[in-house]
Amino acid sequence: MPKGFRAVRSAVVAALESGNYLHVSRGDIEVKNLLAIGEVGAGEVIDIIHSCDGSHYSSRPHHVVPAIEVHVLKRRGWVHQVLFHRTADVVHQRSPMSNPTMKILFEGDTGQALCERCQALVGMHYTRRDVPFSDGQGIARDILVGVCDGCDTVVAIPPQSTPAIREARKQQLKSIEARLPAVYLDVLDAAMQAVCSEAGAHLRKLFLAHYFQRLVQARQGMGLQPGHEAFVTALEAQQRQRGLQASGATRRLSMKVNTHMAEDFLALLQQTRMSQTELLKAVIARIQMDVLEVRDPQVIEVLQRLVRVAG
Ligand SMILES: [Zn+2]
Repeated sequence: MPKGFRAVRSAVVAALESGNYLHVSRGDIEVKNLLAIGEVGAGEVIDIIHSCDGSHYSSRPHHVVPAIEVHVLKRRGWVHQVLFHRTADVVHQRSPMSNPTMKILFEGDTGQALCERCQALVGMHYTRRDVPFSDGQGIARDILVGVCDGCDTVVAIPPQSTPAIREARKQQLKSIEARLPAVYLDVLDAAMQAVCSEAGAHLRKLFLAHYFQRLVQARQGMGLQPGHEAFVTALEAQQRQRGLQASGATRRLSMKVNTHMAEDFLALLQQTRMSQTELLKAVIARIQMDVLEVRDPQVIEVLQRLVRVAG
């Protein structure tokens, strides 16, 4: 097993290049594992790892099985956690006839993996399962996974399952449904009204879709939280000033979404680690800031153009 930064780096790069690695699973598909869900490719991860030096590297014993060392590479906001055990060797030796870059696992293949439930390195076998995403947003059906021989928990996901996982993730989100404090929909409608005097409720989806895309592309998801907190504080201050009680009224927001909007929404959920409801509230607070507070002429012009196109 590789020891020290240089050995670990070259072992990780070699594994990524050959596809000879497994994603750790605790019975679900960890949505923060962007490589497993196909949000980033192995090539991108290799580039980031190549740019690491010793200062980006640390290691520690695994919290469940201390005999196994977890190697951590942190760089540019990314965290890669890698552990080595014999699985990789076993899998590699198992198929000496095939090209290592095209290694395909089948149902019934066996290997080893770390099982947190059994708190040990365990034997596993590959089989097909329906596996939920860790954030509760849907299930990837019938994907090939490694299952613990002892407790039957899903413990490993091979890279060959990633395309199916990515597709499942996209397909699952067909609509966005949330119950929000009524004031958020009022604020969104007021922003729409400010952009276009004939704004109808159908524009809510258009505005939100536009903002999801903008925030994802600019990787500005992280700024949403403080903006939302400021919005809530300002709202409370206004209510206090006018001697009003906080209202408990809620309204339902329900939108059918296409795959592009679904992808952007899911990417933002990942970036921000917010719940769906919190994310929608924070994006509406952002729209309020841009359109009603700052009155950003560029933003307003883009939205006006969108409204015209949507008709
Ligand atoms: Zn187990």
